[in-house]
Amino acid sequence: MPSIPPSPSPSPAPATGPQLDAVVVGAGFSGLYQLYRLRELGLSVRVFEACDDIGGTWHRNRYPGARCDIESTSYSYSFSPELDQEWQWSERYATQPELLRYLHHVADRFGLRADITLRTRVTRTVYDEDDHLWQVTTDTGEMLTARFVILATGCMSAVKEPDIPGAAAFEGQALHTADWPREGVDLTGRRVAVIGTGCSGVQAIPLLAEQAATVTVFQRTPVYALPAHNRPLSAEENAELKAHYPQFRIAQRQSRGGTVFEPPTRSALEADDAERTATYAAAWESGLLSGLLRTYNDILLDPAANETVAEFVRSKIRTIVTDPATAETLSPRGLPYGTKRPCLDSGYYATYNKPHVTLVDLTKTPIVEITRSGIRTSERNHAVDVIVFATGFDAMTGSQIAIDIVGKNGTTLQEKWADGPRNHLGLLSSGFPNLFTVIGPLSPSVLSNAVVAIEQHVEWITDCIAHLREGGLTEIDATAAAEERWCAHVADLAGLTLYPAVASWYTGANVPGKPRVFLAYAGGLDRYRAQCDAAALDGYRGFTLTSLADVGWGRPRTGLLRNSGGASGGPPYPLRDF
Ligand code: NAP
Repeated sequence: MPSIPPSPSPSPAPATGPQLDAVVVGAGFSGLYQLYRLRELGLSVRVFEACDDIGGTWHRNRYPGARCDIESTSYSYSFSPELDQEWQWSERYATQPELLRYLHHVADRFGLRADITLRTRVTRTVYDEDDHLWQVTTDTGEMLTARFVILATGCMSAVKEPDIPGAAAFEGQALHTADWPREGVDLTGRRVAVIGTGCSGVQAIPLLAEQAATVTVFQRTPVYALPAHNRPLSAEENAELKAHYPQFRIAQRQSRGGTVFEPPTRSALEADDAERTATYAAAWESGLLSGLLRTYNDILLDPAANETVAEFVRSKIRTIVTDPATAETLSPRGLPYGTKRPCLDSGYYATYNKPHVTLVDLTKTPIVEITRSGIRTSERNHAVDVIVFATGFDAMTGSQIAIDIVGKNGTTLQEKWADGPRNHLGLLSSGFPNLFTVIGPLSPSVLSNAVVAIEQHVEWITDCIAHLREGGLTEIDATAAAEERWCAHVADLAGLTLYPAVASWYTGANVPGKPRVFLAYAGGLDRYRAQCDAAALDGYRGFTLTSLADVGWGRPRTGLLRNSGGASGGPPYPLRDF
């Protein structure tokens, strides 16, 4: 093990643990696949997971009704044809327990558990500029060094604590959808309040209403929700899917958003009312989250085009919800369709027809405080036994900023990102070499099927590390100029859309004090993939690659590396030079 010289200020405690090739932070979809890939290279890897088991998002979000809202057959790993053939999804949209079983199966099938340390949070990591190593510290007191750190910390893992006065005073049971007790909660006969009507609230509310004596929903902003049309997958459907899985997986990887569809070519405003309504009705019946967004090419670009979809959804809400005043309160106004993530509805709107379910419009009667007995709005106190906070996350950046990451010259990631995240290709932030991020900010991540985006990132990162090893190189860093251009490009693309003007977690507006920056790459996963591949093929253009004399890799090289279908396998796209 190399000796670690004194580090830049603030100086870390001396690293006393082993030197690894890589530390992966998080054991969800991203971390598991990253571990699999790096082990394939023969590298020494440790995954640290703060929770008491693997699964990431699908371990923690155990609230009633939690399920994926991209079809399970598509929201699953594509890297193993054998896995595709042996795993059987029972429903079109798998529930949280089934998704978690899948991830456990993956961990067991590929023997991943041995390299995963549970109940251990990475709290700090400091880059040693002399040895090109990260010094990693955990909350259990472990200290070790690694050539690479890969943040597989998820986009929705930093829970947003309720910013409502008096929350601590409540004497009933307070729950957060993203931190639901493992043993479940019996709500029978209890009065339940739900604060928040994003995707988590929309999924939970129908199930909570099946159990609770009363459900009172406190809504600040109504959402657009499409019917999921969830159903069991028959043996015949599964057989059909499996027969075409190889072609489907290729098409998925080449697609705009990780789900296969033909991008629309016409404007919504070119169609007449009858054609538009028929088109929207078909999309509504498709049960696909992005169905309405796929109808015309300007839904997210032109306010007038967008309003035609928005009004279509409002008309549907009016047909489902019997009380006209409640239907109107549930109908988004002045919020362009799709600029906050749409939701899939499995009985959400219909739940408001039940006599024991009440909707409180916080735009008319805002919450003043949480009291010992319930929630007091400007109108009255609502006495409840349970408050469910479905209030969301410090999305995209929260889980990374939560780690004390110290890069070159003692600069912390918090400092670097004070005005918003900055990186090149969403992968590496300049001054933080060898610190990769999987589906973090300024990449397509949350605007695409997350699993497909994860695989693209993991494969690029793995190919990059293999390339460094092949060349005896020990450090990759984004250049400041490339980072500058990438951030501007991401902002320019977002500026073409309706997204940035809306206060949402996409723009960081849901967290007080968070910089207002559109956090994702809006150009599509296919174009993004092409740019990542082109940069790699062009000798990692936009990055600086350097080496130390003594490479110090954890295990001996095992011969030529296989092309994983990522960077080194892609076509040379003539794209903008970053
Ligand atoms: P979210 O979309 O951020 O929704 C949070 C909700 O809480 C919003 O309605 C928000 O109102 C409300 N809220 C926050 N603070 C409040 C306050 N102080 N007073 C009153 N209301 C407050 O969070 P989420 O529903 O957990 O979903 C986050 C993301 O996670 C989703 O967009 C999706 O990407 C992912 N997710 C996916 C699935 C799935 O795939 N199946 C399921 C759940 C979540 P405002 O809108 O007015 O701020």
